[in-house]
Amino acid sequence: MIAVIGGGIVGTLIARELNKYVEDVWLFEAKTNFGMGVTKSNSAILHGGYDDPPGSLRAQLCYKGNQLYTQLQKDLKFDLKRVGSHVVAIEDEETKYIYSLLKKAEKNGVKEIRIIEKLELLEMEKNINPKAKRSLFCEIAGIFDPWIVAIQAAKSVRVNGGRTLIKKRLVEIEKKNGKFLLKFQDKSEYFADLVINAAGLYADEIAKMFGDEVPEIFPVKGEYFLLSKDYQYVNSVIFPVPTGISKGCLVLPTVDGGYLIGPNANRVVSKNDTATTKNGLNEIREKGMKLVPNLNFRRHLVKTFAGLRPETDKKDFYINVGKSGAIHVAGIRSPGLTAAPAIAEYVVEYLIQEKIGLNLYKRENYISKIERTPHLVHIEREKWNEIIQQNPDAGEMVCHCNKVTKKEIIDAINQGARTLDDIKFMTRASFGECQGGFCTAKILKILAEYTDRDPREITQNEDGTWIVNAKVRI
Ligand SMILES: Cc1cc2nc3c(=O)[nH]c(=O)nc-3n(C[C@H](O)[C@H](O)[C@H](O)COP(=O)(O)OP(=O)(O)OC[C@H]3O[C@@H](n4cnc5c(N)ncnc54)[C@H](O)[C@@H]3O)c2cc1C
Repeated sequence: MIAVIGGGIVGTLIARELNKYVEDVWLFEAKTNFGMGVTKSNSAILHGGYDDPPGSLRAQLCYKGNQLYTQLQKDLKFDLKRVGSHVVAIEDEETKYIYSLLKKAEKNGVKEIRIIEKLELLEMEKNINPKAKRSLFCEIAGIFDPWIVAIQAAKSVRVNGGRTLIKKRLVEIEKKNGKFLLKFQDKSEYFADLVINAAGLYADEIAKMFGDEVPEIFPVKGEYFLLSKDYQYVNSVIFPVPTGISKGCLVLPTVDGGYLIGPNANRVVSKNDTATTKNGLNEIREKGMKLVPNLNFRRHLVKTFAGLRPETDKKDFYINVGKSGAIHVAGIRSPGLTAAPAIAEYVVEYLIQEKIGLNLYKRENYISKIERTPHLVHIEREKWNEIIQQNPDAGEMVCHCNKVTKKEIIDAINQGARTLDDIKFMTRASFGECQGGFCTAKILKILAEYTDRDPREITQNEDGTWIVNAKVRI
C-alpha cells in the first residue's frame, strides 16, 4: 500500500498520479474535506512561471505545471480561465524591473509573454492607474478554484480503486518489519510500504515523526479583501512590481466573477493564525488602490480573509526522499497551486521510479475523466428546463447570490458533503455577497434531511463548529 499524508492540492494530485500505476493508494486527510488547508485561502492564480528564480525547483515545476493544467482541466472538469496577467510599471524605475523579468522568463523557457505599452494596456484594462507606463503581459496565466481540483482529484482516486479518508490526523509513525505503521488520532492504524508526506504547513513536523530532516516551515500570512461582482474592475490579474518577500499586493478577478485584493506578507507565529488585522487590511487597501484607483471597498466588500504560506528560509520547494525512505514534499509555497501537477509527476516519475528504483507500469483500466455536476446556471436554458422537468429540485433556487439550486446541493451530499463548508466549497452556495445570510438555514435543513441527522449535529466544518444548539424550526 502507498500512503499519501495530506489532502491539499499537492497530496491529492500525487495520489491521483500514483493511482495511474498502482491501485492500492490511500490518501489520509486530517480535515473534513480535501483542499481545506493552504489550498483554500490564496490568490488562486495559475502563474505563468516567468518570475521564479531560474534553476530553482519552483521554476522547473511552475511553467510545466501551468502547461499540465490544460489536460487536467479536461480530466477533472473544474473552471479555469486563462485571463492573462500584467506586471504593471507605474514609476519610471519599475520599467527596468519588468525588462529584467522578461529576461528571467526567457531563462525559465516561458515564451507566452511580452511588454505592452500604455495605450494597449489602458485599452485592455480601463480601470488601471492612468499613470501606468507599460506592463509585462503573460497570456497563459489564469484563475481557478484550487480546492475543486483537490476535491475532484480525490474523487478520481476513489473512482480508480484507491481510498480517500478524511478526519485522519497522523500522530505517530513506527517502522515495523520493513513497513511504516501509521497511527492516527482516532486510534486507527495502517501499514504502508511507502509514504508520501504532503502535509502543507505541517510537512516539517511529519518529517520529524519519520526521523527525517526537512527545512523548518514557518507561516507567512497573506490577507485579502473579496469584492463583489457588481462592478467590472479588471479582466486579468494585475500585479505590481514585486517586493522581495512576495509577488506584491494584486487586484484580480475570481473565477466566478468577484475580485480579490491582496495579499500582504507577514511572518506569524502560529500555523493556525488566519485572523485578518486592521493594519494588514489598511496596507492592502492602499496598495490595491495604487493599481486600480477606483476600487470601492465600502460598496463592494463581501468579506476579508487570510491564508498562510508554508515558507522556508530557502524559499524553494523541498521535495526529496528522506533517510527513512519516506518522501517529503515540503515548503510548497507559491506557486504551489500552479506547480502541483508537475510536483505529482516529479514525485512519481523521478523520486519513486528513478531515485528509489521502483518499477511502475501504467494501468490499462485507469479512468482519467471524472464527472462533475455542472453549475446549472451556466448551461443552456432549454437544457436546464429539461432537467427541471425530470427533477423539480433543479428549479428550486437555494443560494440566490450564486444561483445554486437544491439539486446541486443534493448532488454534493451524494458526493460526500456533510458540513456547511463542504456545500460551500463544492457548490459555491453561501459563497456570494450575503455570505450565507439568506441560505444557511435552507442548506442546514437539506443537509439534515438528506443525511438523516438532527440540525444540531450539522457543523460548519470541524467537529464542534455547530450552527444551532437547541431545537429549532427551519
Ligand atoms: C496568501 C497565499 C497566496 C498564494 N497564492 C498562490 C497563487 O496565486 N498561485 C499559486 O500557484 N500558489 C499560491 N499560493 C501557494 C499555494 O496556496 C500552496 O503552495 C498550496 O496550496 C500548497 O498546497 P498543499 O497541498 O501543499 O498544502 P495544503 O493545502 O495545506 O494541504 C496539506 C494538507 O495536509 C493536511 N494535514 C496536515 N497535517 C496532517 C496530519 N498530521 N495528518 C493528515 N493530514 C494532515 C492538512 O489538513 C491539509 O489539508 C499561495 C499561498 C498563500 C498562502
